[in-house]
Amino acid sequence: MEIGRRDILLGSAALLLAPGGSACAATDRPLGYAIVGLGYYGLNVIIPQFVNCTHSRLAAVVSGDRAKAQRVAREHGLSDKAIYSYADFDTIRDNPDVDIVYVCLPNGMHAEYTIRAARAGKHVLCEKPMAISVAECEAMIAACRKADRKLMIGYRCHFEAHNLEAMRLARSGAAGKIRYVRSEHGFVQRDPTKWRLKRALSGGGSLMDMGIYSLQAARYMTGEEPVAVTARESTDRRDPRFTEVEDMIDWTLEFPSGAMAGCLSMYSANQNRILLMGDTGRIELEPATRYDGNEMWTGKDGRERKIVPPPGPAKTQFAGQLDHMAQSVRRGQEPIVSGEEGLRDMRIVEAIYRSAREGRTIRL
Ligand code: NAD
Repeated sequence: MEIGRRDILLGSAALLLAPGGSACAATDRPLGYAIVGLGYYGLNVIIPQFVNCTHSRLAAVVSGDRAKAQRVAREHGLSDKAIYSYADFDTIRDNPDVDIVYVCLPNGMHAEYTIRAARAGKHVLCEKPMAISVAECEAMIAACRKADRKLMIGYRCHFEAHNLEAMRLARSGAAGKIRYVRSEHGFVQRDPTKWRLKRALSGGGSLMDMGIYSLQAARYMTGEEPVAVTARESTDRRDPRFTEVEDMIDWTLEFPSGAMAGCLSMYSANQNRILLMGDTGRIELEPATRYDGNEMWTGKDGRERKIVPPPGPAKTQFAGQLDHMAQSVRRGQEPIVSGEEGLRDMRIVEAIYRSAREGRTIRL
C-alpha cells in the first residue's frame, strides 16, 4: 500500500511540473517567495535558482544584515519595501507580493519562523531538517493547518533526476526484490564555531545534517516505513568540534517486507552514496545527492551499466522544488514532501538517538 501511495505521489509530481501541461494557465503569475536567511543555502544556492523557475519568483528577502539584504534586493530588482529584518518579519503579512516564505535558517529557528510565517498568512517551504524535535514539527503542522496554509520541507532529492530514476527502477523491479539499502552521507566539518556544532541551533550533529539524506533515501528507495531502528554512535568528545553534538552515527532500519537499510552520517569524512541491493541486481548512486554531478549504475553484482536518467520535468532539482510548492499552493494540493513527511523523519531521528543512547533496538 505504501509503495502504491508513493508511486501516485511521484506521478503527481511529474504532472504538476509537466512543461506545457494544463496545470497552469499561461496568464497565471509566478508566485512570490520571501527567502528568510541570506546564508550559504538561501543566498548562494536558492536565490540564483529563480531564473530556472516557471511558477516562482523572488519577491522579498529577510535578513539580520541590512546592507547585505539591500545589495541582494538591488541585484534582483526588488525595492526596499521587499526587505525585512527578523524583528519586523511579521509585517510581511501586509505584502501581497509574498505568497510563500522559504525558511533557510539554522535548524533551531525553523519552527519559530514557520509558525510566524503561517500566522502572517503565508505558505511555508522549510529547509531540512524540518525542526529539532517531534514536538516542534507537530506545532509547525498545527500552525499551518490552523492558518490553512501549505507546508513543504526542502527535500530536494524528490526532484533530482538520478534519485527519481533510481526510485522508478527500484519500483519496476529492475533489481528484483529490494533486500538491503546502504546509504552513507558525510563531510568533514572543520569549523568548531559553526552553528551546526551548537546543539541549541542544530538540534544534533551529522544526523541532523547529512543524516537526513541517508534516512530519507532509505525510505523513498524502499517505499516502506521502518518498524525498528538500532543505532550506534562514535564521537571523540575530546575533539573541540564535538563537545555538544555527535560526529558519526550508524543505524539499521528494519522494514515490514524484511528489507533492511544500513545508514550512516558523519562529520569526519566525505561520503555520498546510496546502494540498493535486490535479489536479482543492484542500483548504485555515487555521488548520490549532490547539487549536480550525481552518477548512477546498475548491474548484477557491480557497476555494469551506467544509467543516464531522462531529464527531469524541471531544469534543476531546486527549480523543481520551488515550482512544485508554487503549483501545490495554486492548486490547493498537498506538496509531495509535506510537513507530515518531515515529521515522520523526525520521529525516526528521535528513535535513532534514543537507540544509540540506550544501546537497544527501538520499535517504531
Ligand atoms: P548558514 O550558516 O550559511 O546560513 C544561516 C543564515 O541564518 C545566515 O544568513 C545567518 O546570518 C542566519 N542566522 C540568523 N540567526 C542566526 C543565528 N542565531 N545563528 C546563526 N545564523 C543565524 O547556513 P546554511 O548552510 O545556509 O543552512 C541553513 C539551512 O539550510 C539549514 O537548516 C540547513 O540544514 C539547510 N541546508 C539545506 C541544504 C540542502 O541541500 N537542502 C544545503 C545546505 C543547507
